[in-house]
Amino acid sequence: MDMPDKLAYLTEQLNELHQQGLFNTIRTIESPMDGRIVVDGKPVINFCANNYLGLANHPRLREAAKRAIDTHGIGPGAVRTIAGTMNLHNRLEERLAHFKHAEAVVTLQSGFTANLATIPALVGQGDVIFSDKLNHASIIDGCRLSKARIVAYEHNDMTDLRQKIAETTEYGRRIIISDGVFSMDGDIAPLPELYDIAQEHNILLMVDDAHGEGVLGKGGRGIVDHFGLHGKVDVEVGTMSKAFGVVGGIVAGRREVIDWIKQRGRPFLFSSAMTVPDVAACLEAIDILEESEELVGRLWDNANLLKRELTNLGFDIGNSTTPIIPLMLGDAHLAREFSKQLFEHGVFAMAIAYPTVAHGKARIRVMNTAAHTQTDLEEALHAFESVGKALRVI
Ligand SMILES: *Cc1c(COP(=O)(O)O)cnc(C)c1O
Repeated sequence: MDMPDKLAYLTEQLNELHQQGLFNTIRTIESPMDGRIVVDGKPVINFCANNYLGLANHPRLREAAKRAIDTHGIGPGAVRTIAGTMNLHNRLEERLAHFKHAEAVVTLQSGFTANLATIPALVGQGDVIFSDKLNHASIIDGCRLSKARIVAYEHNDMTDLRQKIAETTEYGRRIIISDGVFSMDGDIAPLPELYDIAQEHNILLMVDDAHGEGVLGKGGRGIVDHFGLHGKVDVEVGTMSKAFGVVGGIVAGRREVIDWIKQRGRPFLFSSAMTVPDVAACLEAIDILEESEELVGRLWDNANLLKRELTNLGFDIGNSTTPIIPLMLGDAHLAREFSKQLFEHGVFAMAIAYPTVAHGKARIRVMNTAAHTQTDLEEALHAFESVGKALRVI
């Protein structure tokens, strides 16, 4: 007798995704990550990467990684607590703390694991987390792992947050957690108000600055610097996979927090450290950022130009106040078709749909970088205009 296929339920669900226009087709890049790249054999202008400062293929980062391989090899060999902490890791943490004006920093493998390490180390069963409804998936997963009660408040809505705090009368410890920059809309958390609320009620405050690192604040020092709140946000999570152009997670804050994560953060204790070339490249990225604000300035100039011109063309670009530009289209099929036609015009910009954003809120996400030239932007704008008109969006 033939047994039924144990994986038939997955085939069914995959077919459903195709029918709904929600199946994610993953493209292959055949060149270094940059303003222009080769995707599936085709040269295109790239608006998909979080490579804000163009550091992912920067000659100085490449050299730094090669030099470090010669002095330190490649792999860390173990988890940090056993034998995986090299002098390079310690140096990176000291440099990051200095760069961000934080008391201490611990690095992890990624921003995702930084959230998984931090949140369950700070709160647990019987505690309460107040979490913005649009927080990143890694924050949500960190919250779930903690077993604390999760109270989600309306996106950036301080009145709702205050009400939720007032309504939540049973708790052990409490923490407010918010993205700094919301990665699909490009808007920023009202950190000064979050700080006031946290102070008023003596609640811990944590911000995830993944898209603010290297982008916001003086010379890219992040959202805490942007708002001048040094020493006031209890925990700052971040990543070196975006503006830093490499990979690796950051937790910055009071020394007690960092010391505790090194004792209890599970991805710190049970997953190996960043690799040598990654650490060396990140150190070089800090050097570049501390030497000059030129790249951060160019990023913002490019973003402001593109925002202005896309708005002039008649596109709805939502509420972005950062270099992330969402072209709001609504329908998932339309967003996919838009992205496909842009690609035919030599522009690589990804359609984003459910579950990354809510149903009916599909969009093209245009990621600006300092790696784009004036010509890149002009060519891209022509493509946006042609496709926008062809699909009757503008
Ligand atoms: C991208 C992102 C992360 C994950 O960072 P990785 O280093 O890629 O794991 C975490 N939080 C937020 C808010 C992000 O945007």
